[in-house]
Amino acid sequence: MAILVVGGAGYIGSHAVRALHEAGRDVIVFDNLAQGHRQAIADAPFFQGDLRVKADVQKVFRKHAIEAVLHCAGCTLVGESMQIPGRYYENNVSGTLNLLTTMQDTGVNRLIFSSSGALYGEPERIPIDEEHPQSPVSVYGHTKICVEKMLEWFDAIYGLKSVVLRCFNAAGADPSGQIGELHASETHLIPQAIYVAMGGLEYLPLFGTDYPTRDGSCVRDYVHVCDIADAHIKALDWLAADKPSAVFNIGRGSGVSVREIVEAVQRVSGKKIALQAEPRRSGDAAILIAGCNAAKHELGWKPRFNDLSAIIETALQWQTGAAKSWS
Ligand code: UDP
Repeated sequence: MAILVVGGAGYIGSHAVRALHEAGRDVIVFDNLAQGHRQAIADAPFFQGDLRVKADVQKVFRKHAIEAVLHCAGCTLVGESMQIPGRYYENNVSGTLNLLTTMQDTGVNRLIFSSSGALYGEPERIPIDEEHPQSPVSVYGHTKICVEKMLEWFDAIYGLKSVVLRCFNAAGADPSGQIGELHASETHLIPQAIYVAMGGLEYLPLFGTDYPTRDGSCVRDYVHVCDIADAHIKALDWLAADKPSAVFNIGRGSGVSVREIVEAVQRVSGKKIALQAEPRRSGDAAILIAGCNAAKHELGWKPRFNDLSAIIETALQWQTGAAKSWS
């Protein structure tokens, strides 16, 4: 029996595939390669398919004996979700519905879902625990709520068990330097700042300078992608031990502003990063910092990368190394 990693050629997915290999688990990767890369999964069994095409999903479940599913697929850009909302509902919500109905049809009843801290919206309290009210300020965040609600009903009606991991800002790359974050059109802060440091971009746009934060820029909780991958493995073990469906925040519990990220990338790279102040980006909450006590105490998860510079070093190693030879 294998673990099906949906979106396994993407950023979080490929790190989860690697962690599963290291744990000696059998893996099958399902990905449409819209954002993912074939190189990211080395020789893992691969099925190219699209979640929005139910026949693709049914085919992979018919062909393989699947024990559980890690669902890391979907569109992930907050800014884009405010410009092309339909794409987000189609990929993230309809696509996931195809996955859930196929799981139900084929008797696969364990799912780990990569959700997001973006579903909380502007926090009423910091850190944000799992019970915090959900009031997303982006379509992206809302698509995660839609899926979480579907999961609750599929559990109540069919007994489909899930662990939802509300991941805050995934950052860094595998310390091997072999895999990392690479999007056709990159908009995430750390890779963009590194591009500027490497001379690939003239300046970094700073989206918003008047947020109610210590330096006026947005504050996020950056957590290493390998720690996120590790949380996925621990969540699989949780369900394998017949524990109930659960929801966990995954972050470091520490807030870093956009300006502080820029300073850290300058420090680690030794290069100056030019900034250009721009208006706020639609869909951005001012502050998102995870409360992770539940993941630590119940799931037994603890981030290994606690130092921001160490996280950025792995991203820099990846972007200045193997990433350059990928398509
Ligand atoms: N950001 C920025 N300039 C960029 C990219 C991002 O100022 O070129 C800001 C963005 O507005 C947000 C934070 O950096 O406040 C993190 O954005 P990112 O897209 O990396 O992750 P998100 O929090 O949207 O998932």
